[in-house]
Amino acid sequence: MHIVAIIVAGGSGSRIRSEIPKQFLALGDTMVLGHSLNAFDRHPRINEIVVVLPSELTARYGPDLIGRRTPTRVVAGGARRQDSVARGFALVPQYADLVVVHDAARPFVSVPVIDRTLDAALEGGAAVAAIVSQDTVKLADRVDGLPIVDTTLPRDTIYLAQTPQVFRRDVLEDGLALGVTGMDVTDEAMLVERAGHTVRLVDGDPGNVKLTTARDLAVARARVQWPGGGSGMRVGIGYDLHRLVEGRPLVLGGVTIPYEFGLLGHSDADALCHAVVDSMLGAAAAGDIGQHFPNSDPRWKDASSLDLLVRASAIVRERGLAVRNLDVVVIAERPALGPYLDAMRTNVAEATGVTPADVGIKGKTNEGVGPLGHGEAIAVHAVAQLGLAADPAIESLLL
Ligand code: MG
Repeated sequence: MHIVAIIVAGGSGSRIRSEIPKQFLALGDTMVLGHSLNAFDRHPRINEIVVVLPSELTARYGPDLIGRRTPTRVVAGGARRQDSVARGFALVPQYADLVVVHDAARPFVSVPVIDRTLDAALEGGAAVAAIVSQDTVKLADRVDGLPIVDTTLPRDTIYLAQTPQVFRRDVLEDGLALGVTGMDVTDEAMLVERAGHTVRLVDGDPGNVKLTTARDLAVARARVQWPGGGSGMRVGIGYDLHRLVEGRPLVLGGVTIPYEFGLLGHSDADALCHAVVDSMLGAAAAGDIGQHFPNSDPRWKDASSLDLLVRASAIVRERGLAVRNLDVVVIAERPALGPYLDAMRTNVAEATGVTPADVGIKGKTNEGVGPLGHGEAIAVHAVAQLGLAADPAIESLLL
């Protein structure tokens, strides 16, 4: 059994509005195409790979794609999709049994999906990974240029085709022979159907998405970066305590509160901001405040801790995350914090890129118990929820 995979990366990136086609954009530690290629390189049943690149990018990316475990060749694509596949097919040896065609822009193809499609094509000659439509599908007419429902199709008859699409060598050859004659198609199965062959549908995978829009790419990047958290929701906890001493201002949440004592510390000793910084860093598993803003660094001497919050926001954003909401408890026997809470919420919200409605701050006393109850110190507990950040580089493409 000899199986050749053709990875088609010949398309343009116009729908992501990027200079570079989407298959070449970064996704984790490689590009989108690298993931698609790896899936077939690592699959034990694939004997040979042909990557079809846009002709203008062959020299730039081709050399990095060869030299894999599975013998891999690179060829320049053509104008239409079927032309690109035909150029890849030209490198498929006569003795190949099956030919797999896969979109480079589907980086999350799984081993079971590849296996199912191979098995079905082995039996039936041609097979396509597909998923049953979850949405009701309307067939439309146009009346005065507006789309009007003509009929509603029974949902269980609607399959959305993915790749891989796998064909017996001779079956794909028949289909591609039709493609040369001018018919424009969006997948290879369509040519094979027109050539009179039966094409089986096998279970694809909803996760086997084709990266088409900027949103798709942003979600894919989050999926690669945070494989454990599909929604990207992350929660972190923070705590801080500073002593109350004479001769220092009392700053909490960036608000200077009139009081006879203030918090002792290297910066402005704003324990509220410090606890929130740690909760954010914790949620991103990005270390702690001492690591990023060490006491020993003169830059942070008397620094406004709101500035540290801004910097912590940048740190989590670099990891593809952003604050969703924050909740804070300040344990201070005195002074009463009620009159200052709204100003604190506004400051913290501004520094972390959320709205005051996303920031809870509550003042509590310690009921006179222990050092906190005796007014020796103020302690703060904070919880941060982070979610996936919109990728600013991608968002800017959407403007
Ligand atoms: Mg502190």
